[in-house]
Amino acid sequence: MAGLVIKPRSRIFHGHDWVYASEIKKSFGNPQPGEVISLKDFKDKPLGSAIYNPRSQIVARRFSRRKQDLDREFFLRRLQLAFSLRQRLPLDVSLCRLAWSESDGLPGLIIDRYGPHLVMQTLTLAMDQRIELIIEALRELLSPDSIVIRNDSPMRKAEGLEPASFVAHGENPDPVSLEAGGLRFEANLLGGQKTGLYLDQLDSYERVASLAEGKRVLDCFSNQGGFGLACARAGAASVTCVDISSEAVSAVRNNARLNSLEVDAVEANAFDYLKSCEETFDLIILDPPSFTRSKKALGDAMRGYKEIHLRALKLLNHDGYLATFSCSHHVNRELFLSNLRDAAVDTRRTLRLVESYCQRADHPILPTIPETEYLKGFCFQLLPGR
Ligand code: SAH
Repeated sequence: MAGLVIKPRSRIFHGHDWVYASEIKKSFGNPQPGEVISLKDFKDKPLGSAIYNPRSQIVARRFSRRKQDLDREFFLRRLQLAFSLRQRLPLDVSLCRLAWSESDGLPGLIIDRYGPHLVMQTLTLAMDQRIELIIEALRELLSPDSIVIRNDSPMRKAEGLEPASFVAHGENPDPVSLEAGGLRFEANLLGGQKTGLYLDQLDSYERVASLAEGKRVLDCFSNQGGFGLACARAGAASVTCVDISSEAVSAVRNNARLNSLEVDAVEANAFDYLKSCEETFDLIILDPPSFTRSKKALGDAMRGYKEIHLRALKLLNHDGYLATFSCSHHVNRELFLSNLRDAAVDTRRTLRLVESYCQRADHPILPTIPETEYLKGFCFQLLPGR
C-alpha cells in the first residue's frame, strides 16, 4: 500500500487524525488522490490507514489505527456504530445527525435523518468517490424513502470538488413536514439552507424558550425561526425574527402559520437592524453564521461579535437576557466569553451567566480534534437591581 511518512512532532502524535502538507517527511508507493494510504512514523512504525488528497491542505485524514479498506463492510460497520450511539442518546433519532465525519470515524461524510428521508454530504474526495457504496450501505441499513445529496458546502472547494445537489434515491421529498420539540416545521432538504434544519441547535430552542414567558423577544439570525417559534409557544409577549435571507423569512412565516403562533418576521441585515432599532427587548437571541472559516480572519470575526453584543446589550431592558452563540471552532469558549466581558464593560452593564449551551450530542466532540467542538453559547442576564 502507498503511504506517507510523518515528521516527528506532528499533530498525529498528539492524538489528532489529520496530516498537513508541512507534516509529511516523504511519500512512498505513489499514492493517488482519493486512495486509502498507510501512515508511518519516522521509525517506520505504522500509524494507521488514512484517506489521501494532495489538493487539500489536509493531505491525509486517518480513519483507522489499523490496516483498513474503504469497502462495503467498512461502511456498513461504521454507519451501524454511528446509528447505535444515537439510539442511546436522549434525542429523537428520527430527526438527527446520524453520522458526523471525524467524530464517527468517517472523515468528510455527514448523514442527517429527517424521518424517512436522508440527507448526505461528502466533503472529502475519498468519500465523494465512494458515494454509490455509501448509498448502498444506507439503503441496506435504514431502507429510507429518499436520499438527497447536498454537496453545495464551500468546504468541498478545499478538496477540489465541485458543488452538486441531487436526489440519489427515491423521489424529491421537498417540502418535508417535521416535528421538533413539539413544533412543526416545513423544510426543504434539496433546496433549503444547510441540510434542512439546524439540528445542532434543536436542544437549545426549549432551554432558551424557558426564559421567554411574558417577554418581548428578538431572535436575530433566525433562519427558519427555531428559537423565536419556541419562545412564542412558551408564551412570549411578542417575538421578532430577523434574517437577511428572504427564503428564511418566508420559512419563519410559514412555520408560524403551521403552529398557529404569532411571530413578526423581518428581512434585514441584523447588524443594521440592531443599530437602528428603536424598540427594546427582554430576551435577545444572537445566532449568527460562522464569521470566520480561517484563523486569519479571527480578528474580523471578533469585531463582528463585539458589535452585535454591544448593540444587543443596549437594546436590552432592565433584567433582560442575552442568549448568544458562536459556531466557529476558531472562537473558543474563553475567547467568546472575553468578547462578552468586553462588551459588558464598554456598555457599563453587569452580566451574570444563567446557562451555557453546546452542539447537540449527535455532533460528538473528540477532545484530540479540537475542530470537532464548534458550537458554544451563553445566556446572560443583566444583573437585576443594578
Ligand atoms: N438560529 C438558527 C440558525 C441561524 S444560521 C436556527 O437555529 O435555525 C445563521 C442565519 O443567519 C442564516 O439563516 C443566514 O441567512 C442569516 N444571516 C447571515 N448573515 C446575516 C446578517 N448579516 N443579518 C441577518 N441574518 C444573517
